[in-house]
Amino acid sequence: MKLKEYIVVKGIISCETGLRIGGSKDSLEIGAMDNPIIRHPVNGLPYVPGSSLKGKMRSLLEIKAGTYQKGSGRPCDCGSCEICILFGCGDPSRSTQMTRLIFRDAMITSDSEKRLREAQEEKGLNFSEIKNENWIDRNTGKAGRGGLRTQERVPEGTTFNFEMSIRIFENDDSAQFLDKIKDGLGLMQQDYLGSSGSRGYGKIKFLNLTFNDKAFNI
Ligand SMILES: [Zn+2]
Repeated sequence: MKLKEYIVVKGIISCETGLRIGGSKDSLEIGAMDNPIIRHPVNGLPYVPGSSLKGKMRSLLEIKAGTYQKGSGRPCDCGSCEICILFGCGDPSRSTQMTRLIFRDAMITSDSEKRLREAQEEKGLNFSEIKNENWIDRNTGKAGRGGLRTQERVPEGTTFNFEMSIRIFENDDSAQFLDKIKDGLGLMQQDYLGSSGSRGYGKIKFLNLTFNDKAFNI
């Protein structure tokens, strides 16, 4: 296999509702949030890990193709379908191809950083919102016991810089790859990113998308 070029896809991820990508409690001080979001370890700003974007796009494309294996929780490992070629094969021993897609971590845009810094100064927010959720006992109509949980989210309106690279080898059809990526981005807009999507979290929109600096729509 001979590498011909890299194609770069860029855009903006805009949060249409609060977004929650869970982080680790271990990295925070005792007494901090129950359910913290993932943050950059140095500047403390929220970001969207490339692994979250990759995993979500892949699972949605597999659901659409009918190859999604709900039981195993593992991605397709046939090694030969278009999704395995683009995203990599779950079973390296069966892989005959180099993974084509490289997803970068999506860092917060400077506009959003400014907006969240202002909110921090005015309201003491830590670049996030805290959402309290309860479950309601259907028999009593009251809050269920032990039901209150606190969830940290990236506020609606926050934007992140999206970027991915596509390795193009000789004999690859870059237009065909782009079609698949457009399909995946469109599915992500219709579905959700992060957790608790069925309860309103994680609706996103992709803006200003480019393919090697040429604008495209999904
Ligand atoms: Zn496959």
